[in-house]
Amino acid sequence: MANEAEYDGIVVGAGPAGASAAYWLGETGARVLLLEKESLPRYKPCGGAVPRPVFSRFPFDFSPVIEREITRARLRFRDGREVAMDLPGAPVAMVMRGRFDHHIAQHARAELKEGCQVVDISQNSECVEVATSAGESFRGRYLIAADGANSRVARLVGLRRHKYVGASITVEVPASAAQMEPYAKTALFLFGEPPLGYQWVFPKATHLSVGIGAFASSGASVREILQRDMAALGIRIDGAQLHGHPLPVYLEHEQLHSGRVVLAGDAAGLVDPFLGEGIRHAVDSGRLAAEAALADDLPSYTERVHREIGDDLLWGLRWARLTHSVPKLGFDFGARNPLVIEDLLRLFAGETTYRRMAAHAIPYALRGIGRRLPVEVTV
Ligand SMILES: Cc1cc2nc3c(=O)[nH]c(=O)nc-3n(C[C@H](O)[C@H](O)[C@H](O)COP(=O)(O)OP(=O)(O)OC[C@H]3O[C@@H](n4cnc5c(N)ncnc54)[C@H](O)[C@@H]3O)c2cc1C
Repeated sequence: MANEAEYDGIVVGAGPAGASAAYWLGETGARVLLLEKESLPRYKPCGGAVPRPVFSRFPFDFSPVIEREITRARLRFRDGREVAMDLPGAPVAMVMRGRFDHHIAQHARAELKEGCQVVDISQNSECVEVATSAGESFRGRYLIAADGANSRVARLVGLRRHKYVGASITVEVPASAAQMEPYAKTALFLFGEPPLGYQWVFPKATHLSVGIGAFASSGASVREILQRDMAALGIRIDGAQLHGHPLPVYLEHEQLHSGRVVLAGDAAGLVDPFLGEGIRHAVDSGRLAAEAALADDLPSYTERVHREIGDDLLWGLRWARLTHSVPKLGFDFGARNPLVIEDLLRLFAGETTYRRMAAHAIPYALRGIGRRLPVEVTV
């Protein structure tokens, strides 16, 4: 393997992690190659809920790819009880991931090669070489692996050996204006089944994205639960295409660099174990990866991800264990205490952290006593 690198950074995968890494590398004038196995824009199974703060990470406009903004949330339990609340802060944007991810990649000053799957890598003390399925090879000083939940690069460099993944399904359901009306500005979350997870209905421009995420195996088929519970809401998904996808939730601090390679986004297992959110962490880890490569200091990347992203996700894991494992109790507590729901919605909007929520838990519980939310029953 030759030692001379043609690129300062090679980024594998043009999702939000890879597109963000390529963007921030490119802004410094570095020579960047972004390799994506699909043709863009590609379909990515996802709820597509993006908290506002994500947009302010970049100096360009995202309005062309925002399909809707939601300002209200309905939280429903499987027995038909429901509480609803306006979002206490900024609206949450709804995007289709193909267009959103492509939008970031299009702003990156990088050479983008689509339909280009990385199949192997090798590295020495000077550079990393990637081989593609088309038989090409490229050399870079650093490689940022943002190749998603099933990261081949992570496997090739021996990272994420004991990775844990939850399961999810998404379905895009075309909706008439009348079907869309109750969801036009509202996200619906459905709790209770699967026990360690939830279901959702998120509105897009002309359809509803519905899905189910299970952070642990519940024994029951997630497809059957989704079909049954959506039918009860009048949303028929039989006949529609179901997209399954792993959810690489964050369970512990792990090493995320090896030699001249770092892992970002889902490849690094940065999905929130409570909400299943990952776009924000993908974007942030992409930027951290670019900064570490530019500083010639990859160990600092692992440390910064642990400190700036992972520590809070571990607080999220505690919340997940507490509430998803006793969903009825969690729902009853929230319905009795609007301040808790308000905080959860701030979290969904990217305006608070799990650590802050934990610090507020006792004062909130006390202040919220007696401020019950109206519970509707619409079985
Ligand atoms: C059902 C579901 C719903 C979700 N809903 C939300 C939500 O509402 N909000 C939220 O914030 N998060 C959500 N998430 C999480 C979010 O989708 C992920 O965290 C996010 O996509 C991670 O981005 P990424 O760039 O790391 O990976 P990805 O978006 O998966 O991108 C990886 C890219 O790498 C490419 N690739 C893979 N292998 C190779 C290879 N060998 N060579 C070249 N290219 C390759 C892939 O084609 C892909 O384009 C959801 C996840 C799921 C599964």
